[in-house]
Amino acid sequence: MIVGIDDTDSATRGMCTTYLAAVVAERISSFARVNDRLLVRLNPEVEHKTRGNAALALHVETDEAERLEDAVVEEVEDLAVFDDDKTNPGVAFLRGEPTEALADYARETVREYKTPEEARRVARENGVRVRGWKNGRGVVGATAAVGASRAFDDWTYELLVYRGRDEWGEKRRVEWDSFFDAHHATHPRTWDTVDEETGEVVAVPNTHGPVIYGLRGTFGGVWEANARVEVENAERVAVYRTNQGTDAHLADARASEIRDGGSYRVEGTVVEPPETRKGGHVFFTVKDDERLRCAAFEPTKRFRDTVRALREDDRVFVCGSVSDGTLKVEKLRVVSLNRTRRVKPTCCGRRMESAGRGQGYRCRADDCDGTAGSLVEERVERELDERWYEVPPSARRHLAKPLARHETV
Ligand code: ZN
Repeated sequence: MIVGIDDTDSATRGMCTTYLAAVVAERISSFARVNDRLLVRLNPEVEHKTRGNAALALHVETDEAERLEDAVVEEVEDLAVFDDDKTNPGVAFLRGEPTEALADYARETVREYKTPEEARRVARENGVRVRGWKNGRGVVGATAAVGASRAFDDWTYELLVYRGRDEWGEKRRVEWDSFFDAHHATHPRTWDTVDEETGEVVAVPNTHGPVIYGLRGTFGGVWEANARVEVENAERVAVYRTNQGTDAHLADARASEIRDGGSYRVEGTVVEPPETRKGGHVFFTVKDDERLRCAAFEPTKRFRDTVRALREDDRVFVCGSVSDGTLKVEKLRVVSLNRTRRVKPTCCGRRMESAGRGQGYRCRADDCDGTAGSLVEERVERELDERWYEVPPSARRHLAKPLARHETV
């Protein structure tokens, strides 16, 4: 049996769907065996999203399916934050393996906007029983979560350590240096544990909820890192197989094909150089078959320096989600750099001057009659190289594949 759970989070009240799944897994352990736990990140651009837009799936073996379903429903009703307007829980149950149609639905839910009505139809046609609370939006993620194991080929892991309910809202008691030890011992098999350039511990959230910290990486990597982390008052630990860090949200596209709410990989030539605007946001425009406005917003911090170093005629791949027709860059690859500029020729140690419209250039020295017909090309030193650049760990979106994985996988 596969159990999908979605949208029990509350950004303001500190609940977290992964915690609920961990509690459910423990509760059912006396009569069911949990073989796999999936943390499925859905479309990062969905408007009504809960924090991180995540859904969970538990793959369970049991002879007591009805008892299991009752237990799941009870825990959702007990733990979900029903009085938060944005919390609209849903659960889904499937006996057996997901169909290909369900896998398609899961893949689409990462890249598109889906309605609860469509989720209910897909569920009905593919043997999935769903239940939604309040406005029912949670059936979208719950249905997608049930199909996820068949939908994706690339998986990473997240190890989450939780604290008990009486600790929520309290200061976390962690040994900050131990996260740097964990990072050094396991990177690139783990990523986004710390930001070495800023000295920040990224694995520890600022939220009031049950998560003390989360470690992302390979299965071996996250366990090895966890053995080095020192923390007090941990209540439980859970490891999820996840589509985080896989770029599952990105579709290859031409500039003319992009739509608001989607996430894309587009190749183009810089036609409008970067400009920093109010608030520290940096904008530039590339041209593919059409022009596409791109932005590196203030929270992307030092990544903006990379973007500011772009010049006209640089060739780039940009990756990111689109809203208001603007692609919010989360990663870019410099394909080729424009390393020349056209300048007036030099004579007698100085730049020549114009000899008049259409008449070329002449030397400025009185005793020289040097002339030239046209501008010449001069080499420009560039700060960038022809390679990938990414936002810092604190700005990384869950689905974005870190460069650490580009190198190791
Ligand atoms: Zn001269």
